[in-house]
Amino acid sequence: MDLGINGKKAIICAASKGLGKGCAESLVREGVDVTICARTPETLEATAEEIRAFGGGAVTTVACDITTPEGRAAVLEACPEPDILVNNAGGPPPGDFRDWDRDIWIAAVDANMLTPIFLIKDVVDGMMDRKFGRIVNITSSAVKAPIEILGLSNGARAGLTGFIAGLSRKTVAANVTINNLLPGPFDTERMHANIKVAADKAGADLEEMTKKKAASNPAGRFGTPHEFGEYCAFLCSEQAGYVTGQNLLMDGGNYPGTF
Ligand code: NAD
Repeated sequence: MDLGINGKKAIICAASKGLGKGCAESLVREGVDVTICARTPETLEATAEEIRAFGGGAVTTVACDITTPEGRAAVLEACPEPDILVNNAGGPPPGDFRDWDRDIWIAAVDANMLTPIFLIKDVVDGMMDRKFGRIVNITSSAVKAPIEILGLSNGARAGLTGFIAGLSRKTVAANVTINNLLPGPFDTERMHANIKVAADKAGADLEEMTKKKAASNPAGRFGTPHEFGEYCAFLCSEQAGYVTGQNLLMDGGNYPGTF
């Protein structure tokens, strides 16, 4: 299927690794010119080289912390009129809510709620004027079914989800859609770091726990960043203009509910 986005411009946040990188790869293959960011220049450049090898769209890099106003300004300077915005940032640390003070909560809300909201604020009116926009927020399956050790994520992302539910109905008539993609367990550094925390807490063997977690998923495995990127690319397609305000779970069937 031709997704109809060849030549479009995209910002993909936090994309040197994992799910953001998967999204960048899929969009570049579709001929989208992408601006990707991450904090460490060397890692980011190495990723850009890898993605360029696929051919397709151009890859621009901006080494920055996307959770800061300066970082967001630098990304927008590199790509002032994006057609596509993929919001992403590192997830907050796992732990026990009794250990989290106000500063820790504010950092989580900043990264996983306010950063995407401010980026949307900066680009959405231009998208509506140009009559094309696709915004995808990478959130988490924790929005639908909270994960015990990820209270910061459960809380901050719920705030973003509520905001998007309102805004996404105001932009779709101008062909600007806003959706949330909710990853379940995907094979990335972040997921393995979370399993390690759980294994340490339980005094369990890391390898055993990783195998058990993969086997306990109905798919019998973790998802891949490539699968995630392809779903994201479809949501960014010309064809997906009638999908907005949705929380799209991608978890191998892990969530047990009927709906
Ligand atoms: P990852 O650790 O593999 O990759 C994160 C990427 O974000 C890296 O490129 C890193 O450099 C970049 N990054 C982190 N903080 C940044 C910042 N402040 N500014 C710029 N770049 C930054 O993580 P992932 O597994 O790809 O996760 C992506 C998001 O999805 C996270 O918010 C995570 O919590 C969420 N998530 C992941 C899973 C999973 O199973 N992998 C499940 C649910 C939710």
